[in-house]
Amino acid sequence: MSYKTLINCTIITMEESSKFFPDGMIIIRDNIIESISKTNISDTKGEIFDMSGKIVLPGFINTHTHTHSPLFRGIADDLYLMDWLKNYMWPAERFITAEDAYNATKLSCLELTEAGITTYADQFYYSESIANAAIESGLRAFIAPTVFTNPSPETDNTFEEARKFIEKHINKSEETLIYPCIGPHAIYSCNKNTLVDVRDLALEHDLIVHIHISETIDENDDCFKNTGMSPTQYLNKLGVLKCKTLAAHSIHIDEEDRKIYRDNNVKVSYNPVSNLKLVSGYLNYKELKDSDIDISLALDGVQSNNSFDILSDLKTGILIQKMKYNDPTLLSAYDALKLITIEAAKCLYMEDKIGSIKVGKFADLTIIDTSRANMNPLHLESFNMVTSAIVYSANSADVSDVIVNGEFIYKDRISLKLSRDKVYSECAKSSKRILSSISYFSEKI
Ligand SMILES: [Zn+2]
Repeated sequence: MSYKTLINCTIITMEESSKFFPDGMIIIRDNIIESISKTNISDTKGEIFDMSGKIVLPGFINTHTHTHSPLFRGIADDLYLMDWLKNYMWPAERFITAEDAYNATKLSCLELTEAGITTYADQFYYSESIANAAIESGLRAFIAPTVFTNPSPETDNTFEEARKFIEKHINKSEETLIYPCIGPHAIYSCNKNTLVDVRDLALEHDLIVHIHISETIDENDDCFKNTGMSPTQYLNKLGVLKCKTLAAHSIHIDEEDRKIYRDNNVKVSYNPVSNLKLVSGYLNYKELKDSDIDISLALDGVQSNNSFDILSDLKTGILIQKMKYNDPTLLSAYDALKLITIEAAKCLYMEDKIGSIKVGKFADLTIIDTSRANMNPLHLESFNMVTSAIVYSANSADVSDVIVNGEFIYKDRISLKLSRDKVYSECAKSSKRILSSISYFSEKI
């Protein structure tokens, strides 16, 4: 058994009964939180880490992303979603190899780590390569092989590829930190038979179905034209929503859809910066919340966000909502933090394991250093000031340390898992090769 103790921490637990320890101590036994208390040097166990001036939070959780996406960072900006997807992203994705997906995922994992993210949910092809990169990074990864009716760059049969990945990785999560899911891309890219196959496989293995739903008004209009139903009604009719469903976006859903979401316990992943950049619309946060639907906040891919700074996106995401409802009291900083911690854990059906600092949960912790100018003055004994500083003042650059499954993977702003220079150069090589084979991209580089 191995122990480590964090002392002199300012702890926000995200647990209602004991939210705040201004002079706290956390003892970690192997990968589990053993105790949380006031700092008492005589009670420490194992190696001691002094966290004076630092805020310790549950590890941040990003419920929707595409980790191959740094291959297209800074390319194809300023476009409408369907133009961007059909004329730029999907054609470009045809050139991606397994090695490119692996290289890009390592860069994504490095950036996610630097942002304080300890768990993420991904959707793309080449899941085996993506899982290998995730394992090297030390992050907890919910990997959904994308299922598409048409062939992908990897295979002519995305469903069979997904099945192979799932059957290989199922029930090994506690050892590998890889949690297999399934990712039917959307109702417009998967036909009825594909969706039914996905449903059956997901029910058989109790998998999370990670899918884009009602991201744009065009998706809804086309679905109404083709089926006479909204995307949500259509998926409900096919029985897909009987599965554990993680619905990315869910922007254009109406009252009837919300009732279906609530009745089927569908979880929402809100991706504000991607939605802003692709002008997809505003999430109806208040109506979803009033309907008792679980909501988390996420990053989407670098192609539609350009960076993985979840604290910056959290600030943007909640400010949009306050403006939309003309109500600055809509969410407190503490409520906002739930969207990337405990509420996000619920969206991955993992609230009993991650999402808060609680005895018995996995030791996944994000540590924020308060020494930069943007974090000062800050009275660490004040719960309100500390939560405000995290949500409204901090960004990725303030994350100093990250612990996943009881192990430091990022310490004093240095990754202990991935070599920065190597990761940068390998991803640059992949990106250059892909972009130079496509004329409209090669003109830009
Ligand atoms: Zn997406």
